Amino acid sequence: MAEPLAAQARLDEIMRVIAANMVAEVCSLYVLRADGVLELYATEGLNPGSVHLAQLRLGEGLVGTIAVTARLLNLQEAQKHPAFAFLPETGEEIYNSFLGVPVLRAGRTLGVLVVQNRAKRTYRDEEAEALETVAMVVAEMIAAGGLEGLSRPGVSLDLKRPHSFTGAGLSEGIGLGHVVLHEPRVVVTNLFNEDAASEVERLGRALETLRESIEDMLQRRDIAVDGEHRAVLEAYRMFAHDRGWVRRLEEAVRNGLTAEAAVEKVQSDMRARMMHLTDPYIRERLHDFDDLANRLLRQLMGGGEDVLDGVGDAIVVARSMGAAELLDYRREQLRGLVLEEGAATSHVVIVARALGLPVVAQVKGAVSMAENRDAIIVDGDDGTVHLRPPAELESLYGDKVRFRAKRQERYRELRDRPSVTKDGTPIHLMMNAGLLVDLPQLAEAGAQGIGLFRTELQFLVASTMPRMRDQERLYAAVLDAASEAPVTFRTLDVGGDKVVPYLGGFSEENPALGYRALRLALDRPGLMRTQLRALLKAAAGRELRVMFPMVTDMGEMRQARDLLSREIAHLTKFGHAMPTSVKIGAMIEVPALLYQLDELMRLVDFVSVGSNDLFQFFNAVDRGNSRVASRFDDLSPPFLLALKSIADAGARNGVGVTLCGEMAGRPLAAMALIGLGFRSISMAPPAIGPVKAMLLELDATDLSRRMEAWMADPERPLSLRQRLVDFAEANGIPH
Ligand code: PEP
Ligand code: MG
Repeated sequence: MAEPLAAQARLDEIMRVIAANMVAEVCSLYVLRADGVLELYATEGLNPGSVHLAQLRLGEGLVGTIAVTARLLNLQEAQKHPAFAFLPETGEEIYNSFLGVPVLRAGRTLGVLVVQNRAKRTYRDEEAEALETVAMVVAEMIAAGGLEGLSRPGVSLDLKRPHSFTGAGLSEGIGLGHVVLHEPRVVVTNLFNEDAASEVERLGRALETLRESIEDMLQRRDIAVDGEHRAVLEAYRMFAHDRGWVRRLEEAVRNGLTAEAAVEKVQSDMRARMMHLTDPYIRERLHDFDDLANRLLRQLMGGGEDVLDGVGDAIVVARSMGAAELLDYRREQLRGLVLEEGAATSHVVIVARALGLPVVAQVKGAVSMAENRDAIIVDGDDGTVHLRPPAELESLYGDKVRFRAKRQERYRELRDRPSVTKDGTPIHLMMNAGLLVDLPQLAEAGAQGIGLFRTELQFLVASTMPRMRDQERLYAAVLDAASEAPVTFRTLDVGGDKVVPYLGGFSEENPALGYRALRLALDRPGLMRTQLRALLKAAAGRELRVMFPMVTDMGEMRQARDLLSREIAHLTKFGHAMPTSVKIGAMIEVPALLYQLDELMRLVDFVSVGSNDLFQFFNAVDRGNSRVASRFDDLSPPFLLALKSIADAGARNGVGVTLCGEMAGRPLAAMALIGLGFRSISMAPPAIGPVKAMLLELDATDLSRRMEAWMADPERPLSLRQRLVDFAEANGIPH
């Protein structure tokens, strides 16, 4: 094979060598094309004129059956098999016995390799093993592009077939780039061992190291809690000791393979056979086995190349990954993220969103279908992924991306324009943040400050409790980055759906209405006091704004305020430098507060409406349940009246009011908020441009007057959305 022969000649030579070695009269290779046809690519023994002409569909004949089932067929009398299909052009009718094996790579079938004999014989197991091993070599040749262009023009191989997936778009935006497999498949190049006994020993040593590393991980403090990590590692431990697996590996080595080739072969066989099973438990275990096999391969072959080498537009494809692992990549080389698992609240998704990366998750099969450096498109807006996209699709998406970039450019031009409505009302446009990676957005998006800093994100992305020092460091960095601009820190909002495993999990029937946020913090003041102390120290010499989430009654608010006063007294007593001023705020998320707004406002310096939660409790619709979340409109008069009562109470009491839920970032809703009297809103950074474009064209006084009349109208519609749209359109307001 090392001889410099042209591709077809080399393939023919391989067929000849296999036939000779296996004492077979025929050896043929069928390759799977993109159109699902298996084409005869080379043969020794069959009619040479049928090469590139003879073909079978997937599932047709013996060859098609092998390709579909990914299982070998070993037959004494091929013609008697029910699936046998006769291909007259090949002249194969004189051959009785038949041995065919799938050509597999990473569990995908790329073709079928066949040997045949006239005599009715059964091929021995060692012969079948040998043929499977050669099939691995052929698989590498196909994957490396060695067979490209051998057939008629226009024929492309299945390996290069475009494939579109539908998943869940969890972070918007479009990314065009090239695949970088987060856990790259190790390409085994050294296939045959020279001394089986010492190779079995090498395999044994690698397995031992693998087992030790799993034990190590299980011992680590951060995993020593019952959680998902632990369950996965325990599955690894079980598999690493699995006798069947180890026996199959050793057998493959005794049959002549190197340890790494044996791992690859056993894994590929197993994956191909189990891939069609849909039982979620089995699929999950198969994934675990894949991960384990990959670890073992890396153990045997040492460190790999830098996966990002030469890829300037990486789209990372992974089964799942931790938030910290994503941060290990260089941001400027990333264009998107594709996950086989993942949910909107996965930490890695939160971080990806903060980095402005489009994300599509729950994309089944992405890892095994993708090859490193394949072209790929991630569409986070509609939750699709296009692997090896055809040229037309690529250019369509190219246009889409350019259009978005142009729009972004227009928003950038607005960045330095004062944020004032057409009739001269200044509006504070703030941004929501929660991680260090968010901070560059402050200047880029042109926000006037951070209206909501979600401190729980630091806790959510960490595997152990952030120490006071780590908290202080983050808060100081945030204040440094904001320099003069105001930052409002929200104290820990965990519990409910924001699960922090190291805080001890408890399951609740209704977590959103459960033991969460301030409720939990007041019962466990140690946690809250540590955080308040970190905030006070970080803000030494500048203003500190702290607000508490999920306040329900005045008792809670007073308790929270007392805790803060106590920390201030404590730090002052020990001579710590203090913030120049401390402003205290409450989030309005629980409807009960709507009936104690004046009392609340006497206790605080500012309030911020958490409209995501307020809306869910107001209408009794679970914000995370897609079946009901959008059943009611947040532009309906009852909810708008509730919001207006908050804005009015703020004006009456001289207390600053902000709204920091998602609706603040939608231009039409933001317009309504301004109409209700809100003068400060806080949103995700990418929303600032579109909202600013809206308010620059808005006559706020005119809108306020109209909205008041619409809401008082006894004939008013269920939602004011259409009236607001009509108003925007009549006045040339982008919405
Ligand atoms: C809200 O509830 O509107 C809010 C801003 O907080 P979170 O989305 O973090 O619950
Ligand atoms: Mg909330």
